[in-house]
Amino acid sequence: MSRKSQTSETHSALNSLDLGTIEFMKWLISKDTHSGDTLVVVKDYFDNKYVILFDKSMSTNVIVAYRDGMPWCITCNTDDCGHVGFAICLKQDYDRNEQVIF
Ligand SMILES: [Zn+2]
Repeated sequence: MSRKSQTSETHSALNSLDLGTIEFMKWLISKDTHSGDTLVVVKDYFDNKYVILFDKSMSTNVIVAYRDGMPWCITCNTDDCGHVGFAICLKQDYDRNEQVIF
């Protein structure tokens, strides 16, 4: 018989880096199609500082800060949740777009 231990933390549906990566791909597509069918919404992005996401599965804002270029999720207090996976992809996307402007 297993009894679930009590967990006080708020759980996001994005509980792994991979799920964050998948969600980023969905977000990229929905950005073009305006479907709005994503778990994560990007609210603000400050290059190399932090990104503010809205996680619909938690109904709350999530802040991921970049420390020396490595993202850290302040909300989950970890570096391997889906928000971090999302933030890594987001940064790569911004860096890439920055380089092709000229
Ligand atoms: Zn997180």
